[in-house]
This record gives sequence, C-alpha cells and structure tokens, in this order.
Amino acid sequence: MMDANQFKGHEQVVYLHDKETGLKAFIAVHDTSLGPSAGGCRMWNYDNELDALNDALRLSRGMSYKNAVAGLKLGGGKAVIMGNSRTDKTEELFLALGRMIEGLGGKYISAEDVGISVDDMEIVAKETKYVAGLNKGEHASGDPSPFTATGVYLGIKAAVKHKLGRDTVEGLTVAVQGVGHVGYYLCRHLFEAGAKLIVSDINQEALDRVKAEFNATIVGLDDIISVEADVLAPCALGAIINDESINTLKTTIIAGAANNQLARDDHGQALMDLGILYAPDYVINAGGIINVAAETRGQYDTDWVTAKVDKIYDNLSLIFERSISENRPTNHIADELANEIIDRARKT
Ligand code: NAD
Repeated sequence: MMDANQFKGHEQVVYLHDKETGLKAFIAVHDTSLGPSAGGCRMWNYDNELDALNDALRLSRGMSYKNAVAGLKLGGGKAVIMGNSRTDKTEELFLALGRMIEGLGGKYISAEDVGISVDDMEIVAKETKYVAGLNKGEHASGDPSPFTATGVYLGIKAAVKHKLGRDTVEGLTVAVQGVGHVGYYLCRHLFEAGAKLIVSDINQEALDRVKAEFNATIVGLDDIISVEADVLAPCALGAIINDESINTLKTTIIAGAANNQLARDDHGQALMDLGILYAPDYVINAGGIINVAAETRGQYDTDWVTAKVDKIYDNLSLIFERSISENRPTNHIADELANEIIDRARKT
C-alpha cells in the first residue's frame, strides 16, 4: 500500500495516459540538486497505477543515491511504462514517451532498463535528446556491463582488503551467482587475478563458457548461496539475502552486481551481526551508470569513465570504515553518505 511518505523528497512526478497509443507511464524526478535526474525506463505489467507509481518513486530515489555516491553530476529519476514488454510495444508508444520526456525540458534523462532495449530507446531518441545508453551516434557509450563488472571487481578487492587484510584475490574462492553480461566479465577479472570460481546459472551455455574459459566449478541453483567461499557475488537476482537464505551463508563478504540484494533494509544489520561484510549494491554496481553518464556530458571520455569507476574502491573503503567506527550497517552508511552529498549540493 502507498502512503504520502513515499513522495518524501520527490521534486516532480508526472503521469501520462496517451489515449492514441495506449501509453500509460509515470516519470518520477526525485532530486536534481546535483544535476538533471537520470535513470532507466522500465516496462512492466503492473497490476494497477498505484504499483507503477510506487515503483517509480522507489527506483528514482535509488537512482539519486547511486548517482550521488558515484560522484556524478546527476540527480535521480526513473520512468515506468505500464504494459507487457513482449506484446505491448509499438513505435508510436515510444514516440509518445519521447515527447513526454522532451516536455520535461531536460529535467529527466532516460536510458534502457528492465523490459526496454537499446532499440526501443533509439525510437524514444527520435523525439527527445534526453536519452543515453545508446549504441549509435557520435558519443554512444555502448554496453555498460564490462564497466559494471570492473567496478564490482574493484569493490570485491576493497572488501577483501578491509575484511581479510589482503591486497589481492589470488587464491581466494569467489562464488558468482549468474554469469550473464556482468557475471561473465567479473569472472574474467577474478580468474586473471588468480581467484577460484564457483558459479551457478539457469543458462547452460553461459555456464559452459565460464567453465571452459575460467576453470569455474558449477554448482546447482539452490546451492550457490551457501557454498563455502570467501566472497559471494550475486550477479543475477534481487532479494537473495532474505530471512531464509541469511542463516545458510558460509561466506565472509557479499559483493556483487545485482540490484536490491537485501530483501529488507534490516538484513543489512543482520549481516553485520553475522560478521559478514556487505558491499551496498548501488555503490558497487555503479560502473554501468558511470559509463552511461559519460554520454550525457556531450563528449565520451574513456579516462573520465576509468577514473570514476576506479573510485568505487575508495567509496566502498570509506563506507566500510565508517560502518566499523559508527557500528552501523554498510547499507545505512551508504544512504547517509548519499544524503550528505545531495544536501551539500542543494545548499550550494
Ligand atoms: P544478465 O541478464 O545478462 O545476467 C543475469 C544472469 O543470471 C543470466 O545469465 C541468467 O541466466 C542468470 N540467472 C537468472 N536466474 C538465475 C538464478 N535463479 N540463479 C542463477 N543465475 C540466474 O544481466 P546482467 O546485465 O549481467 O545484470 C546482472 C545483475 O546486475 C542484474 O541484477 C542487474 O540488474 C544488475 N546490474 C547490471 C548492470 C549492467 O551494467 N548490466 C548494472 C547495474 C546492475
């Protein structure tokens, strides 16, 4: 159920029902203190408008936090389209969305997300310049996954340094759940650095590839969470740390790419109580948005992207240190850090 608190902090929320095309969408602009709000567009078969609105509010706030901690001059926003991404997509629908985004005059910059492809966004881009993450064009940034994977690898190194006092992952065992776009590149980094890999996926082809290329050991879908490993890297699904799984964990570090890894906020405290170091998901997986953000600067600059992705190591180290000194879970410290950055920008 929704309540008025969910609007807390949001600057603008727009609802569009375009009767001609059937488009029903929300765009939520959470905060623009740091710059124009940016975040992907999601297409999902929501049961009703309230569920869609709720998702737009929650996800746009998350983007504010993610962009702030990543050091981007971007606020947080999100678009959600109500509909079935397999059957309801039409060119007219995406053109109508493009006009809606253009109507916000640059307050919101869109990109692909769940249910939306780069090709869909190319259609949106016919009506608005406020779209990023494209494959074509002078400053197109292309696939963000390798950048996300590099950030996650650096985040794992920061966690290993903090928790185990080691500078490398050599000889450590890392369990990777999901070896898709990000998981594959992450496995490559880890293998090259001398880590042992345990992996699971529902896609046999993806598993065969990491087994052949990186000598990964394959385990069942239900086993990956509780294998003995130094690091568990969730790179598939959200909410994998939940009431059921938390007591089966046999790792000391959780650091992976998946969004919304904690089923509930208080699972952060529960992990801390168990002595497990958790790298907050939106901090460690920011490499992709950093790469997309490069496109919004007008000129794609590889050095700028690399410097920002490298900073993920420092951002996490700071969060881990504050978590120890303040005796509070890392997910709370990350949110606080994000709010501090946004508040500072608002005041100046
Ligand atoms: P992907 O779809 O390419 O890969 C996900 C992999 O997980 C697939 O190979 C899929 O078969 C596998 N999978 C699905 N269900 C599974 C299960 N039950 N157990 C094990 N494996 C399962 O997605 P991706 O782009 O690699 O993203 C991975 C995660 O990281 C997602 O949660 C995504 O939201 C998040 N993320 C991705 C990026 C990016 O740049 N791609 C950026 C930030 C966050």
